[in-house]
Amino acid sequence: MKQLATYLVPLSTSVLLISPVLADGGFYGDPPDATHPWAIHDMNRPQPPRVEPGSPSSQEQPGRPPSDAVVLFDGTPASLAKWEADKDPGQPTEWEVKDGALQCKPGSGYIRTKETFGDCQLHVEWSAPAKVAGNSQGRGNSGIFLTGGVEVQVLDNFENPTYADGFAASVYGVNPPHANALNAPGKWQVYEIIFRRPVFKDGKMLDSGRLTVLMNGVVVQDSTPLEGGGGHKGRSKDHPYPEAGPLKLQDHGNPVRFRNIWYRPLPKRAVDGGDMGAMDPAAATAKKQEIAKQIRLDAESKDGNERLLRLMESLCYDPDPEAIKAVDGGLAKWVETAKQIPASGMEAKKGEIIQMFNAVRYLTQFKLYPDQGGCQGETAKIIEANGWKP
Ligand code: MG
Repeated sequence: MKQLATYLVPLSTSVLLISPVLADGGFYGDPPDATHPWAIHDMNRPQPPRVEPGSPSSQEQPGRPPSDAVVLFDGTPASLAKWEADKDPGQPTEWEVKDGALQCKPGSGYIRTKETFGDCQLHVEWSAPAKVAGNSQGRGNSGIFLTGGVEVQVLDNFENPTYADGFAASVYGVNPPHANALNAPGKWQVYEIIFRRPVFKDGKMLDSGRLTVLMNGVVVQDSTPLEGGGGHKGRSKDHPYPEAGPLKLQDHGNPVRFRNIWYRPLPKRAVDGGDMGAMDPAAATAKKQEIAKQIRLDAESKDGNERLLRLMESLCYDPDPEAIKAVDGGLAKWVETAKQIPASGMEAKKGEIIQMFNAVRYLTQFKLYPDQGGCQGETAKIIEANGWKP
């Protein structure tokens, strides 16, 4: 059990109990390993950016997108400028904005965004005509095509049977939705789509690509493998996708309406060159070296023990010989000074000595530092002589 006092830091007039993670700096959870560039509970890991959440939609009005959303259609005629005719890129679409909704003009063709994007969280709301006409695939049909290639089906199959892999929110021709959670025709339907494109490297598939869809808050696709992305009649096969492509909306001959369309790009998966999840060892090593470099730069702006501890922390990421030499020298000097503290001054130095002991113990325990100068043993003697518990 650690001494509570080491976790207490005065904050203006009050006293704040801070976490052991902060108290122990970089010497707390399991260190980085071959495929993970950060330690467990690593304070050097970037803080997630702040996003102001949006608000939910109601039948009467669309909700507010989160603060970092890229808005593709906000109900205004002005936002039509973000779209173009798919069959004639560069030309404006003939789809119309009516009462805050983007309405398909049957026969005019698909529309697509001028902007291109890849992995994303995509929010789309749509409404099939209240006056029911047609059946099966002929009723309230449209579609949402991600990177122009995979269709999340839009269809009024509220009490309208059709083939399962063509239901609303199916990955069309690949996988039916887990459930039919549609509202009645004329009502707004809300799709929340999480899209991950297929990842190939040197002709080898590393990830088939995945789609997750919530229909009116109900999970209806759950990391569904794309298996090529589907299509009409033909069985599609896995194939690479472009990193980015336009979002397309389908003209299937029905005046389906859309509103509140926005997306948020998603961070790259490890298989796609990102740092989310277990990384390729070479990529993890490069990342660890980058982190160590940042920590050593930060160390240069500090003095004394703070500087030494930061340098020691850098060894968790990269066993740079120069840094090890600097730590050897720093610790040797620190031990000599600690040994000369008179008995009357020991209590005041207790926190510092225990902190240094814990840091060296952590590094040696995980074989991150050789401690050839025997700092751990020397410090242990001081701790024992004073009857402290590290
Ligand atoms: Mg369709």
